[in-house]
Amino acid sequence: MYGIIGEKLSHTKSPQIHQLIFNQLNIIADYNKFELSATELKDFILQKKYSGLNITIPYKVDVLEYMDFIAEEAKEIGAINTIYNDNGQLHGYNTDYYGFAKTLEKNKVSVKNKTVVVLGTGGASKAVMTYLKKENAAKVFLVTRDKKNYPTTTSPNITVVDYHDLEQNIHGDIIINCTPVGMSPQSNNSPVSEKCIAQFSVAMDLIYNPAETLFLKYARENSRLAINGLYMLVAQAVVAEEIWQKTTLDHAQIDIITKEIESGL
Ligand code: NAP
Repeated sequence: MYGIIGEKLSHTKSPQIHQLIFNQLNIIADYNKFELSATELKDFILQKKYSGLNITIPYKVDVLEYMDFIAEEAKEIGAINTIYNDNGQLHGYNTDYYGFAKTLEKNKVSVKNKTVVVLGTGGASKAVMTYLKKENAAKVFLVTRDKKNYPTTTSPNITVVDYHDLEQNIHGDIIINCTPVGMSPQSNNSPVSEKCIAQFSVAMDLIYNPAETLFLKYARENSRLAINGLYMLVAQAVVAEEIWQKTTLDHAQIDIITKEIESGL
């Protein structure tokens, strides 16, 4: 039994994606949605009534403390999106990192020597920030609603700003939305203004439902490259299945599954 845990899961496409992978691997398995409140989280995790779990908003950091083992990449990122229950031992991984990297690669976007703006400071943002550091982005602006929560950063390349600072005077190459703003059913919202988005050549939204958020609509209408989060979602799911099923999958499947899910969005 597999599944996804999060606070609200009406938007998620993960069950469909994992079912497609199960079918391909000839595995009979369930992949369920578990909507949990913060007070239900600990018991659910520690009861271990699952073989594997994905974790989504807002629990990617909270679940770390219940793991018996945390993979190197997840330790570095400081968040997990995948748990493997290995005979009662909980192993935590971060496959968002791979999903994000694969999406940029697919869209031929390089962050090297670029100025990048990252909106939001949660679990997904941490994976994105780790990627930007590893791939040598020249300058990163990390945007939060409250700078007081992030007084210092360890890297001179990273500047923490708020939305006011961003709208006033920041421009660059790539802007990435790692907040839930614009996600179904609140799809009429954008975390930043159209004027702000037009200051960048590439806009990526980690949200995949709706397929085109208002943030991406603004980017498209200003002839910017607009990338949604579906490819990332499928890529991270494929790697999660490799961990759970102890196998390797043909990553060409990411394109095939993305097209199949896109046709249903
Ligand atoms: P999270 O851990 O809850 O973090 C979201 C962050 O966004 C918060 O830390 C917060 O940062 C900011 N935020 C929250 N509510 C906001 C609001 N109303 N206005 C402005 N900023 C707000 O969530 P997450 O797991 O990182 O996920 C974030 C988004 O990425 C979700 O939409 C999720 O579905 C998507 N995602 C997609 C994929 C994929 O594969 N495509 C993978 C991971 C995540 P501050 O408090 O610092 O402002």
